[in-house]
Amino acid sequence: MDEAADTFDSAFAKAVDLGNRLAGKDKEADLWDIADGLLAGAVQYWLYSRQPCGDERCEDCAPISTADARLAELKRLIDQLAAESEYFHAPTDSNAGRA
Ligand SMILES: [Zn+2]
Repeated sequence: MDEAADTFDSAFAKAVDLGNRLAGKDKEADLWDIADGLLAGAVQYWLYSRQPCGDERCEDCAPISTADARLAELKRLIDQLAAESEYFHAPTDSNAGRA
C-alpha cells in the first residue's frame, strides 16, 4: 500500500473510531449530533488543508484557488465518498425495493 493510501485509511479509521468512542462514552448522546460534529471538524480541517499557496500560476492550487472553487471541490469529494460508502444505500430507504 502506498503512503498516501495508508494515511487516508488511517485517518478514515480513526475518525470512525472517534465517533464510536464518543457514542460509547455518552450513552445519552445523539448519534446525529456526534456525526454532525465530526463532519464539521472534518470540513474545518479539509478547508484548512486547502489554502492556496499564493502563487496565482500554481497548477496544484488552481482547483481550490477561491472559496467557491474550494466548496465545489469539497462537494465533489463528498459525492464521491458518499457513493463509495457501504451505508449510502439502506434497506430501510423509503424507495428500497422499487424500480
Ligand atoms: Zn499552490
